[in-house]
Amino acid sequence: SESLERHEFGAEVGRLLDLVVHALYSEREIFLRELVANAADAVDRRRFEALTQPDLGLPAEPKLRIVPDKAARTLLISDCGIGMGKAELAEHLGTIARSGTLAFAKSLAEAPAEQKPSLIGQFGVGFYSAFMVADRVEVTSRRAGTGEAWVWASEGKGDYTLAPGARDDAGTDILLHMKPDAEEFLEPFRLQAIIRKWADHITIPITVTRDGQEEAANEGTALWRKPKAEVSEESYTEFYRHLGHVFDSPWATLHWRAEGMLEFSALLFVPGMKPFQAVEGERESRVRLHVRRMFITDEAGLLPPWLRFVHGVVDTEDLPLNVSREMLQATPVLARIRKSVTGRVLSELKARAKDAEDYAKFWENFGATLKEGVWEDAEHRKDVAALLRFRSSAVEGWTSLADYVSRMKDGQEAIYTLAGDDAAALAGSPQLEGFRARGVEVLLLTDQIDTFWPERLGEFEGKPIRSITQGSVDLSKLGEATPAGEAADVADLLPKLTAALKDAVSEVRATDRLVDSAVVLAAPQYGPDLQLQRLLRRAGR
Ligand code: ADP
Ligand code: MG
Repeated sequence: SESLERHEFGAEVGRLLDLVVHALYSEREIFLRELVANAADAVDRRRFEALTQPDLGLPAEPKLRIVPDKAARTLLISDCGIGMGKAELAEHLGTIARSGTLAFAKSLAEAPAEQKPSLIGQFGVGFYSAFMVADRVEVTSRRAGTGEAWVWASEGKGDYTLAPGARDDAGTDILLHMKPDAEEFLEPFRLQAIIRKWADHITIPITVTRDGQEEAANEGTALWRKPKAEVSEESYTEFYRHLGHVFDSPWATLHWRAEGMLEFSALLFVPGMKPFQAVEGERESRVRLHVRRMFITDEAGLLPPWLRFVHGVVDTEDLPLNVSREMLQATPVLARIRKSVTGRVLSELKARAKDAEDYAKFWENFGATLKEGVWEDAEHRKDVAALLRFRSSAVEGWTSLADYVSRMKDGQEAIYTLAGDDAAALAGSPQLEGFRARGVEVLLLTDQIDTFWPERLGEFEGKPIRSITQGSVDLSKLGEATPAGEAADVADLLPKLTAALKDAVSEVRATDRLVDSAVVLAAPQYGPDLQLQRLLRRAGR
């Protein structure tokens, strides 16, 4: 028709479609998970916007409908969510706004087979998985609050069309014209099984139409509201996977109910795997806030940024259902919940840290993030410091500050550290020679954040923390180096060296830090240490 507009996909979409369709062929059923998740998100968004604009309100009994039609070989997924206007259809379904194809392709190539399916969700390209099973997709959508509907259609081959359409109420219909080899997904039993597997925790009712009847396909219970004794480990794991779009199992599951001054249920997970970082630099906690089961927002910052690896749900009775964004920012209730939930996560980590081998699994994934707490959270600094683990010049594996202190030599007054990019390289550094020869242990710090937090912490159990590249460390108090080398008399040499090197260094000093090497670089006592200088140089400062 004359009002049909044809558009090219954004440059990256074409390649992406190819990747998704081919790399994930054996996991085709996840297209339904992705489309249902989008539909449920859209309903949540409409509910949230209606808090401030009541005319956007949801129908009395909101649901998601899945309607297979074998004769027409189509599958319809219909929601009553927020909907999309013309510009939103073009933007959300025609370009990849959030992440590059390249990053996705790279992760896809590198990920082990069992993790590939979760990548789709993490990279925000879920919609395109429809083309794994469909050779044509038509999206009819009407934005809540508007009167017009638009139809987006594509065969997934480089372009899409936009044309005016019709829809009685706000929401979105996704109509899939199924490929001949994807007819199994028109079987109601198969669809129900997939929903039970992937979407049982979606709290809005989902129906699958069979013989003209709409049959409930999900249980739709709020798992976190059930008593712990009634929840199986498998249910926890499924819910965890659903929440995080991941396929591993949680390292920790925390499920409790607070009663008394504050009333809330919480179900939180510490992942068993480090996620692929789709959105670099995202620091806010995404723990979901519900009020009496109903999802409100995942932007309430329910945990501090240094615990952002924790996923889950907090569901409270202490806020009204029609809570507004402004109220969320102002209410003391959230601050109290935050404090309580943070304390609970910290005590879980403390308890689990007693088993070194078990704790190491957590530490290797999220230790660097946890360290940010020492840097930025005065209230929890001490508690977090006790949870830190390090490589060391003296012992194998991971060690804590408390263990280090218990091994300190007589006369040793400080906790010594050496920062760099790589523990193996640090272990061979000439900076360590004098310490090693005297049997003095040095902690090896290899995360970027290690350049920052030690100064904030200052000390642990009364022992100052000192970088061994900073200023002159008086090693004589720590005993003789073994074997005691003949100290060369370099007094005459020093002024000559200082003069010769005056453009490169501020001073040349004699040191007892070295045993085998002749020279070593040191940083001034009161400036950035060597690793911080390196980082600042890299950042062009
Ligand atoms: P993601 O869900 O991670 O953002 P998707 O590719 O699954 O990535 O979806 C892209 C975007 O398209 C969504 O963020 C949303 O804005 C929009 N969208 C997809 N499906 C729907 C729907 N049923 N209703 C409203 N908006 C939708
Ligand atoms: Mg999605």
